[in-house]
Amino acid sequence: MTSITIALSKGRIFDETKPLLKAAGIVSLDNPEKSRKLILKTNNPNVSLIIVRASDVPTYVQYGAADIGIAGKDVLLEHNGSGLYQLLDLNIACCRMMVAVKNNFDYETAIRQGARLRVATKYLHTAQEHFAEKNMHVDLIKLYGSMELAPLVGLADAIVDLVSSGDTLKANNLKAVEEIIPISSRLIINQAALKVKRENIQPILIAFSEIVKKGNILLQQ
Ligand code: ATP
Ligand code: MG
Repeated sequence: MTSITIALSKGRIFDETKPLLKAAGIVSLDNPEKSRKLILKTNNPNVSLIIVRASDVPTYVQYGAADIGIAGKDVLLEHNGSGLYQLLDLNIACCRMMVAVKNNFDYETAIRQGARLRVATKYLHTAQEHFAEKNMHVDLIKLYGSMELAPLVGLADAIVDLVSSGDTLKANNLKAVEEIIPISSRLIINQAALKVKRENIQPILIAFSEIVKKGNILLQQ
């Protein structure tokens, strides 16, 4: 039997993917939070997991170093490579990509007056498209993390960041003023692998989609 490699990041994506893998009969033999291993064996000798940075998952799948990957929509929107299929919304790691400003900043008025805003973000591509659609002129500043700090120290007027509970914004005297797009994680597949390893990949796909469907039904009840 051919072997399958699944790329995912540790932390929330690994934690929330674990039940999906279990439904597909795949159980990791290592805990990535404790182990330093980057290639994890599973109970299935033909399936291994590789632990990569969240934003690197599409790259591993695109080049076929992994057959399957689990990546946030935010990451996929920024990744402009080809060679992968986005097959399934897994409905995990859900949050929203939003524009946020300081509590005392009047965003609406700034827009109405055509002010040129400085916006700090890790998501340059998505932010760029969003503001272009709104016909807003912005200067984007690329950051790699802790975007919430930027407005507080005068680096930017606004940020584009992921928000789930809003607690981090609140703790830093920021407010969300605009939703750009709802975010969840997706299952992606290398296009060539889907053809060549269809027999091995299909059962995983089916198990994942079954449990995702069930989850949706539970949510609707
Ligand atoms: P790193 O922490 O290594 O800089 P990262 O922030 O992209 O990378 P995670 O924090 O593990 O890595 O996030 C992985 C994915 O989980 C994100 O790409 C996004 O889709 C989703 N995510 C991020 N923040 C939240 C959140 N607060 N709530 C729910 N999902 C989130
Ligand atoms: Mg993070």
